[in-house]
Amino acid sequence: MLEVSKNAPQMAIIQLGQAFRNFFAGRAKYPTFRRKGVDDRFTLTNDQFQVAGRRIRIPNLGWVPMREELRFSGKIVSATVSRQVDRWFASITVDTEDPPRHAAEHQGTVGVDLGVLNLATLSTGERVPGPKALRRELGRLRRLSRSLARKRMGSKNRAKAKNKLARLHARIANIRQDSLHQLTSDLTRRFDVIGIEDLNARGMVRNHRLARSIADMGFREFRRQLDYKAVRRGALVAVADRFFPSSKLCSVCGVVQEEMPLSVRLWTCPRCNTTHDRDLNAAINLAQHAVSSTAAACGGEGSGSRHPAAVKPAPLKQEVGAKATFA
Ligand SMILES: [Zn+2]
Repeated sequence: MLEVSKNAPQMAIIQLGQAFRNFFAGRAKYPTFRRKGVDDRFTLTNDQFQVAGRRIRIPNLGWVPMREELRFSGKIVSATVSRQVDRWFASITVDTEDPPRHAAEHQGTVGVDLGVLNLATLSTGERVPGPKALRRELGRLRRLSRSLARKRMGSKNRAKAKNKLARLHARIANIRQDSLHQLTSDLTRRFDVIGIEDLNARGMVRNHRLARSIADMGFREFRRQLDYKAVRRGALVAVADRFFPSSKLCSVCGVVQEEMPLSVRLWTCPRCNTTHDRDLNAAINLAQHAVSSTAAACGGEGSGSRHPAAVKPAPLKQEVGAKATFA
């Protein structure tokens, strides 16, 4: 304890307290011990560090160069230094004015269907392709995983292969995170009401397909980003519950299909004879559902939706974290 900043043990205890509060409130599992080398991080209070331009002064380390300047002005509250594989990050919490809002475009309501083939399909007919780099990296991921599996336990080469794989995992996570940020920013900037499906509606079965499981991880993050960005920009997120048959419903005449295996990309409605693209049809249904559920929530005349959605703004968060990479 004498070797490190007084904050290292102090903040750890404060954070343990928070972990227990979360546990007793039923929000989290029982706290577990952190392991050295896994999620390494410590938090500093503002009396323990200094930021000047592209440098940060950390106790016992001195001035450490940063990759970028702190982008927010205001009272600096704390900094968390963390490691992601072989990179170190300083996440600085700043008490700042509300971030400047980009002018909203008020393009009305949109339905968003998240997918594997395309990152998202909008009810406007737009398709947001998944990041191209991802496909290539997934191929590398497969190769590196195999390479790691062939290395002898406890060998230097195994450690090297493990590090390589961990870096690739981090890179893939970053690529996905970036494309999700672009998508959620675009949506909240353009539309007032955004209709999406409940996370679990996807039948989040355990799936061993790599691309699929990585896409699944994205759904939760998509929802998290959409919720906080919608609050900032005054947009509404309308969530259709898990029983809403977004892909089985004909968006033209409203007939519900019995079955719709995931392999079906195109289908023709037996009643009205419209040929639907699976994803676009789902997105349109989600948009229509969002319109009817927000109308009902605002006391207007609902269109008799069988599945009123929960329309709730996400809890307001005021913290703006700036993440800078050390050079
Ligand atoms: Zn139809």
